[in-house]
Amino acid sequence: MENQNAIFNSAGFRRKFHYAGNDLGARLTEEGTEFRLWAPTAETVQLRLYASGHEGEPWQILPMTRLDKGVWFARVDQPLHGTYYDYQVTVEGVAQTTADPYARACGLNGTRSMVVDLRATDPAGWQEDKAPARQAEDIIYEVHVREFSWDKSGGFPAAYRGKYKAFTCPDTTLYGQGEKPTGLAYLRRLGVNYIQLMPVFDYGSVDEAAPDDSFNWGYDPVNYNVPEGSYSLDPADGALRIRELKEAIQSLHRQGFRVIMDVVYNHTYHRDSWLERTVPGYYYRHWPDGSWSDGSQCGNDLASERSMCAAYIRDSVLYWAEEYHMDGFRFDLMGLLDCDLMEQIRKALDQRYGRGEKLVFGEPWSAGPTACKRGTRLAGKKNLTSMDPEVGAFCDGVRDAVKGSVQHRESKGFVNSGAGKENQILASAAAWCPGGRRFHAAAPSQVITYLSCHDDLTLWDKLVMTLDPLKQYDARTPRVLRANRLAAAIAMTCQGRLFLLGGEEFGRTKQGRSDTHNDPIQLNRLDWQRAWENQDLVDYYRGLMALRKQLPALCDKSPRAAERILQTGIPFARCVTLLVDNAGSRWRQLYLVYNASGRAHTIDPDGEDWEVLADGESSFGWQNPRKDKSFTVQPGTALILGKASGD
Ligand code: CA
Repeated sequence: MENQNAIFNSAGFRRKFHYAGNDLGARLTEEGTEFRLWAPTAETVQLRLYASGHEGEPWQILPMTRLDKGVWFARVDQPLHGTYYDYQVTVEGVAQTTADPYARACGLNGTRSMVVDLRATDPAGWQEDKAPARQAEDIIYEVHVREFSWDKSGGFPAAYRGKYKAFTCPDTTLYGQGEKPTGLAYLRRLGVNYIQLMPVFDYGSVDEAAPDDSFNWGYDPVNYNVPEGSYSLDPADGALRIRELKEAIQSLHRQGFRVIMDVVYNHTYHRDSWLERTVPGYYYRHWPDGSWSDGSQCGNDLASERSMCAAYIRDSVLYWAEEYHMDGFRFDLMGLLDCDLMEQIRKALDQRYGRGEKLVFGEPWSAGPTACKRGTRLAGKKNLTSMDPEVGAFCDGVRDAVKGSVQHRESKGFVNSGAGKENQILASAAAWCPGGRRFHAAAPSQVITYLSCHDDLTLWDKLVMTLDPLKQYDARTPRVLRANRLAAAIAMTCQGRLFLLGGEEFGRTKQGRSDTHNDPIQLNRLDWQRAWENQDLVDYYRGLMALRKQLPALCDKSPRAAERILQTGIPFARCVTLLVDNAGSRWRQLYLVYNASGRAHTIDPDGEDWEVLADGESSFGWQNPRKDKSFTVQPGTALILGKASGD
C-alpha cells in the first residue's frame, strides 16, 4: 500500500496520466453519443446500455478503447438521451461493475447512469434565469429540502410536501388558510437573501423507491453530479429530478433569493464507491500501513491533493454553478480538502462569474486526522489567513462565545450566564480580525458569523438546556426568549457574513436532541405553526436584519473593517460596549451595548444625542428613532444606538 500511495502521489503518475480534457462522462454529439472514462489502471473496460435505470439486462455491451492518459472511449451512432448505462472495469484481473463517476443523470438510487440531453431538462425561461442582485449584506438561511415543506402547517400542496417542487410555491400560508405566510413568502418577509440547501446531490441513505420510509440529511454522496432522487416526484425518471431542481432554483431566484449548495467532497457514502471501483486506491487517502484514512469519521477521505481528484472536485463545482445556476458553495469538512484546491475553485469561479460573485466557504475543520500527502496544506482554521480572502469559514469562535461550546451540552456562553466571555465577544464583533486565541481571519469576508446550523443543538434547545431547569422546549420561557434576542442582536451586529439555521428565528426545537441526521422527519421538519406562535421573536430577527443592511461598518468585508471599531469597553462582568465608525450612512457612528448581566447599565456615551435603533424590546426603533443623551440598558438585553449623520 505504501507503494500504491507512492505511485498515486508521484509526479510521474501525474505526468503520465493527468487528463486535462473536460469531456469525461457521456456526451451527445451531432453524430451520436460518446463515452469517456478515466481509468488508467484498468486492463479492459466495457460499456453496457440499458433501457431501465434499475432493472433488466443490458441491450448492448460495447468494448471500450484505451486512448492517451488512461482515458477509455466508446461511440454509439445514435443520440441516446434517456438511455441508462454502466461500466465493467477490470483492474488486476478483477472485474467491477460501476456507474459513471462523471454521470450527470442516473436511475433510481443512482446505481446506473443515464445519458442526458441537458437542454431537454431546462424549464421554460431557464436561459434567462438570473440570480437577484446582491444586497448590502449576505444573510444565509439553511434549509433541508424535505424539512422545509414536509409539515402540514406549511400549507404546501400535498404532492409537493418534502419535494423540490415545494420551492416553486411562492405564496403558501399557514395550513393553506390564506393569511399567515409560510415558506418562501415568510422568508421574503424575514429578509434573508441566500437559501442554503443541505445536500441535493444524489446521496445513498434514503431509498428512493420508498422515500417516506426513512429520513436523512444526506451527507453521504453517491453521484456527485446528479440531484438526489428522493426529492423528485418520480425518482425513476432520470431527467425529471434535474428539471425539478432547476425549477426550484429558478423559483428561488424569482423570489429574490440566491442559492447555496452544500457540497460534501471530503468523503463518499461507501468506500466501495464509483470512484473506487473505477480507479482503485486513487481517489482516497490511506495510511502507510494500507488502512483507510478516516478524518471524516464517515469511513474514508477523498485525496483532494491528487490532480485528477482535485480536477474532479473543481469541475463538479463548476458544473453545478454553470448548469444549475448555483450562487455559492458550502464545503462540508473543508479542513479535509487542501488550500490549493480551494483556491483553484475560487479562481475558476471568479474567472467565469466575476470576483466574489459566487460564495465559497466551509467548515474549517475535520473530524479527525487525515493521511494526506506530505506537504499538503489543509484548508482548516490554521491556514485560513493564508488563503484567498474570499474563501470563508464557519466561525466557531462567535458561535461558542455567545451560547457555549457545542462539545458540552451544559456549557454556557455570554448570553446564558457563562463567565469570562467578554473578550471573545469583542473579538467576534470584529470577525476575529486580526484574530484571537480561538479563530483567525484575514478579513470579515472569511468569516461566517453564526449561532446555529443543522449540527449540534438548535440555539433554542441550547438556551433551554442551560437556562430552564425544567427543560421545557415547547414553553415560551421569558428568560430563554430574552437570551435568544440578545444572542441574535450580537450575531447580527458582528462583522462577517451572516448565517442561520432555518427556524432559529422562531425558536426551532428538536426537543434537546443534537445531530438529528437520521431522526424522524417529525422531529426535523420546520414547524410553521411554531413560526407564528413565536412571531415576536421572528420580528426581532426581522428588524435586526433590516437594520444590518443599513450599517456599512458591519457589512464591510475588507481587511481593514476592524479599524472601524474605534473603542471597546467592559464596564463590568458580562457587559461589553463598542463604538463603531459607520461613516457613509444615515448614522455616522454606532454605539453597541451587549448587557448579559443581571443588572441594568446606564450609559451616557459622549454627552451628545444618540438615536435608539434597537433595544431589548424592539429591533425596529430605527424606523422612528427616539433620541436621547443617556440610556439604561436592561439586564439581559442589547442596545444599538446610532448618531445621526447630520448631527
Ligand atoms: Ca439517492
